[in-house]
Amino acid sequence: MKTCVISLPDEAATLDLGARLARVCSSAVVIYLYGDLGAGKTTFSRGFLQALGHQGNVKSPTYTLVEPYELGMRHLYHFDLYRLADPEELEFMGIRDYFTGEAICLVEWPQQGAGVLPEPDLALTLRYVDAAREAEIRAVSPQGEALLRQFMQGGHPA
Ligand code: ADP
Ligand code: MG
Repeated sequence: MKTCVISLPDEAATLDLGARLARVCSSAVVIYLYGDLGAGKTTFSRGFLQALGHQGNVKSPTYTLVEPYELGMRHLYHFDLYRLADPEELEFMGIRDYFTGEAICLVEWPQQGAGVLPEPDLALTLRYVDAAREAEIRAVSPQGEALLRQFMQGGHPA
């Protein structure tokens, strides 16, 4: 199983998708989040973070590019690269320190960092379907495939 498409009728469904995916991500993982403005990338990230115990706000790190979270023993970095002018800026930010293989990285607008960002384990694409959304989850790495398989076994409405 390398891809799976899930319909998301409302915001709660997007939050729930984030939460369900978070629950299968026990180890380090890199997830790219594709989708137009307003498609639900930050909403997904909020569901993901809350499922791991984060209780405060989740704001888009639109100007800072990255927001770090410490969730118990785990590190999570939430990137929003929309305003990244040049992928090389990521080198100046010390991008290697974030993708250590120990943290969970959620990356909105990964195409802005092409060539410098490491490859993801999972790539999620959120699309508008009238007023609702759908998500396509693609496994990119072997670890991503294992996670997607586990996610699918967790069951979700078709
Ligand atoms: P992005 O980070 O992709 O720019 P946001 O998550 O910030 O998008 O905003 C998404 C908007 O769409 C929010 O207003 C949210 O309430 C809404 N939304 C999220 N998921 C859905 C959904 N499945 N159906 C309808 N509206 C949604
Ligand atoms: Mg966003």
